[in-house]
Amino acid sequence: MKHLRADIVKEFSCLGGSCPNTCCKGWRVYIDDATYRKYQAFDEPLRSEMLSKIEKVGDRYAFNMNEKTKHCDFLNKDGLCDVYIKISPDAMGEVCQMFPRDRTDVGDMRLYYLHLSCPEVVRLLIDRKDNVSYLYEEDDVPVKHEAFEPELLNVLFDGFVLSDAIAVNESLSIGEKLYTLFLLSKLIQEGIDNKNPSLNAEQIGLMENEDNLKELLKLCPDSLKTECISYENAKMFLGGLSNVRENLYIEDILKRMEACDKTEWDSRAAQLKRLGLERELGNIFSYVMFEYFMTAIKDGDIMDKFFRASLVMRFIQIYMVLFLAGERENLKERLCDGVSRISRDIEHSSILEKVVGKVHSLELIM
Ligand code: SF4
Repeated sequence: MKHLRADIVKEFSCLGGSCPNTCCKGWRVYIDDATYRKYQAFDEPLRSEMLSKIEKVGDRYAFNMNEKTKHCDFLNKDGLCDVYIKISPDAMGEVCQMFPRDRTDVGDMRLYYLHLSCPEVVRLLIDRKDNVSYLYEEDDVPVKHEAFEPELLNVLFDGFVLSDAIAVNESLSIGEKLYTLFLLSKLIQEGIDNKNPSLNAEQIGLMENEDNLKELLKLCPDSLKTECISYENAKMFLGGLSNVRENLYIEDILKRMEACDKTEWDSRAAQLKRLGLERELGNIFSYVMFEYFMTAIKDGDIMDKFFRASLVMRFIQIYMVLFLAGERENLKERLCDGVSRISRDIEHSSILEKVVGKVHSLELIM
């Protein structure tokens, strides 16, 4: 079997009780069917105790969430999980055992990633001197699935390598990166849609050349060339979300934006530039592209994945202008906190579905 993972996957270790933004808080923790059946088979009184802290949400089961604190009912005062401590690590649901780790099997390849919604994952990304690297390995473990169409896999893999180089290129603005990746995704999508993944391989290859990239960027709209997203575009971007505001943290960002005028925005954008977080942002960008780009292998819808990644990146950038600019104190902690909260609010909610389903054009990333 083939394995592809970002190097941080092996480095990750949960912070447990010292986590500043525990994953047992702020959202519903769902229980997989096998774990629920396990609880039903517990002896009394444990069975009743477990089931009394579980509720049905739609057609799924979830641990009760405390109305006031928004914590899972099993989170104890030390910030640790009582299911893990009082029963056993195996008694935790699949999500709790895995998070923030995740993996996807596509054909004969297994992709491993960590969700950005964990602050420790963000810290691993930004607290390093070099760029994230992606490790490819093969072993003799038999593959359950059919090998994936090798031509498509190669095109997506090459596309990802190029997208990574663009994501960490500090001479490009976020807008320029998004513009280039938009074109790259379009070329790949065209090949997939025409059942000929290598259709635009030559054009894609040309994008690897620095001079060609410069030529390409001459066509990039001016609004995407600025160092930071402009006030008007940030307003327009967030305005498009006015009917999908349903999450607490996103609501904070929207409110802060409403209170910010153009003069303040420009001043904050300049302050953000002085903080010099390009490498940190490049690493987050590269990683977001990895997660989305490679999962396009599953359904061949690379444009959809591109728009999802763009939405996450634009949110992070707007958050940085509104909440980080100007204050160096606890900068990295605040960046980890903000990025993980944004990821929780938009990657694990219906916002992405609603927005991506509505706007599928360059406008989304302006
Ligand atoms: S958010 Fe991450 S570091 Fe914090 S408790 Fe959950 S897995 Fe551990």
